[in-house]
Amino acid sequence: MYDYLIVGAGVFGAVSARLLTDAGKKCLVIDKRDHIAGNCFTELSEGINVHRYGAHIFHTNDENIWNFIKKYSDFNNYINSPVANYKGKLYSLPFNMWTFYQLWGVRTPEEAKQKIESQRFTGVPTNLEEQALSMVGSDIYNTLIKGYTQKQWMTDPKNLPKFIISRLPVRYTFDNNYFNDRFQGIPVGGYTSIFKKLLKGIDVKLEADFFSDRDYFESLSRKIVYTGSIDQFFNYKFGHLNYRTLKFESQLLEMENYQGNAVCNYTDESTPFTRILEHKHFEFGTQKHTIVTHEYPEIWSKEKIPYYPINDGINNSIYQQYRKLSLEAKNCIFGGRLADYKYYDMHQVIGSALSRISKEIDLF
Ligand code: FAD
Repeated sequence: MYDYLIVGAGVFGAVSARLLTDAGKKCLVIDKRDHIAGNCFTELSEGINVHRYGAHIFHTNDENIWNFIKKYSDFNNYINSPVANYKGKLYSLPFNMWTFYQLWGVRTPEEAKQKIESQRFTGVPTNLEEQALSMVGSDIYNTLIKGYTQKQWMTDPKNLPKFIISRLPVRYTFDNNYFNDRFQGIPVGGYTSIFKKLLKGIDVKLEADFFSDRDYFESLSRKIVYTGSIDQFFNYKFGHLNYRTLKFESQLLEMENYQGNAVCNYTDESTPFTRILEHKHFEFGTQKHTIVTHEYPEIWSKEKIPYYPINDGINNSIYQQYRKLSLEAKNCIFGGRLADYKYYDMHQVIGSALSRISKEIDLF
């Protein structure tokens, strides 16, 4: 008999398993995929660590979280500085003085501010387009936001609620570092090795879907840590939650350097993909070949991976009903992006696992 069955070998599951095991509990981790690490999974292909589920850059402002993850890997000094390609012309991201120079030829923050101010939407925004226009004006919106958003959400940004863009960081400095956090990098040797270390000495069963034999899996342990979809756990009794999904297509290219950067966003509407990743640049690779991945947004259906929750009014109200039930479930801890129905970066999931599992350990 195990003390804990942990459903999901992603960030929440693996960190929980480690903490509970270190506190003396016996854990079994199951995952329906054929690998550990959830969406952070990287696989070594032709000497390059490929981020199978999209670009993953670790960043945090929290020293405790940084110290925790550093116990399981060294990190390189990669700084995320994506480039945008709009109809063949390149722009720096996030929006900063380089972007403004590339757009308008302006050289000073004052000139850039005036440009944005003169183009801003000044009414009360009622949709995503107006919201973005009110924050950054029409040139930035039309060049760098509109087409990308349209592709991501597969609808005109006018049809999208304004809450999707609550913040659009604009920097009046020459600074292409996408994140503001103190700590940032890519684990040396890829993400999967972190999960191998987190799960060292713990029983792990892959290609094991909790719902394929729920009674059996529930009989294996006294308590459960559940990191799968919350609506499925409760048998969809309040309805289905909706998500956005992505399709990734990778190719090996017999050339040293395809795009000179790890991440390039395609912001025009006519290019069908949203990003091209060139994985070797995450780790400053010097191989003679390269691997690139095209990322395409797709409509989600149940057999596809749910990547991004759609936190609109309808889905949130369905989620709140499930959340209420989850708080009443005595022998189950829910956590991670699917059980909390929330987009989280990796450091946030680590933070939430550290805090929830520490409370659990205090109860022993
Ligand atoms: P997951 O990684 O999804 O793990 C959940 C696991 O549970 C999965 O392995 C799944 O197979 C398993 N599971 C689900 N249901 C069952 C079941 N019924 N039975 C058995 N197993 C089950 N974060 C960053 O910090 N930086 C980034 O740059 C970044 N980029 C991202 C890019 C993309 C395209 C995406 C989608 C996410 C990105 N993230 C990034 C977020 C990051 O992936 C998540 O924070 C992290 O993976 C969440 O961990 P988790 O444990 O909550 O979920």
